Amino acid sequence: MSFSEIQGQTDIKAHLQSAIQHNKFSHAYIISGEKDSGKMMLAEAFAQTILCEEGGDDACGECQSCHQAAGHNHPDIHYVLHEKLNSIGIDDIRTQLNNDIVIKPYSSKYKIYIVDEAEKMTEQAQNALLKTIEEPPEYGVIFLLTTSATTFLPTILSRCVLLDLKPVNQDIIKRELMHKHGMPDYQAEVCAAFSQGNFGKAIKLAESQEFNELKNTMVDFVKRAASQGVYEINEIATELVKSETVNIQDYLDLMTIWFKDVLLYKSTGDNKLVTYQDEIMIIKRQSAEMSFEGLENIFKAIDTCRKRLSANVNSNLTVELLLMEVKENMI
Ligand SMILES: [Zn+2]
Repeated sequence: MSFSEIQGQTDIKAHLQSAIQHNKFSHAYIISGEKDSGKMMLAEAFAQTILCEEGGDDACGECQSCHQAAGHNHPDIHYVLHEKLNSIGIDDIRTQLNNDIVIKPYSSKYKIYIVDEAEKMTEQAQNALLKTIEEPPEYGVIFLLTTSATTFLPTILSRCVLLDLKPVNQDIIKRELMHKHGMPDYQAEVCAAFSQGNFGKAIKLAESQEFNELKNTMVDFVKRAASQGVYEINEIATELVKSETVNIQDYLDLMTIWFKDVLLYKSTGDNKLVTYQDEIMIIKRQSAEMSFEGLENIFKAIDTCRKRLSANVNSNLTVELLLMEVKENMI
């Protein structure tokens, strides 16, 4: 992985590459960002670059070291693994990091340790790591990748450089999906909007048949909601809830994007702002028929539905109430 292969995250890339160029990088970084947002790619680009035989501010991709790094078999890049699924314990840190980092690099100037899901470190593990972070050997660089930097002890936080991943601009994601993944315009638009700036998520969605089906199911409902009877709505809700492939939260996100489209078109009349480009005629019609108040009610209902679902209230009933609320506000 080289920096040039990573889309977006311009500030963080610039920061890391400049640090490499001036040989002034930190011995400990925390990269914080949601799942699939590119934390590992950044850590790997950094590792590959500082180990690259060309010695530039980006990995050449050609030298032996780059090949080893790209193949995940570089002897000086260490991925700290954990035995227990949900926690990184003191033994994991001691054996794979603390006791290993004291041994000089095998074939290069540096040794890089990447701890993925570092939020799973127990307090003892963090304390054990702290000693190494306080006095790291000159050749050692540690990356803690996390979805939440707030889980770290203040003493860890104060000794690491914190890099916080920002959402990537949706237009960049859309372009990438269209050009590199050959997606049609309107589909790329939905995936980009849905990913909320998370590149990895956008690509996963783009490749997911289930996501596409979920989108169609949702669109199918909002198109015909006004004319659905109570019995049909009850059936739709039951199917959504019992389906093993449907993620209700995703369904709600897709629905939110739909009604945002209706709202945006209603307030601006601008075609270009619409995410569901392939359904533009229906979005236009609904924006003419629906009131601002009705839209507001739907957003509130989606929000309530989300809260109830996470509080484990009867999900069938919760979803049914939402669908009813949508129906009633669409006329
Ligand atoms: Zn290289």
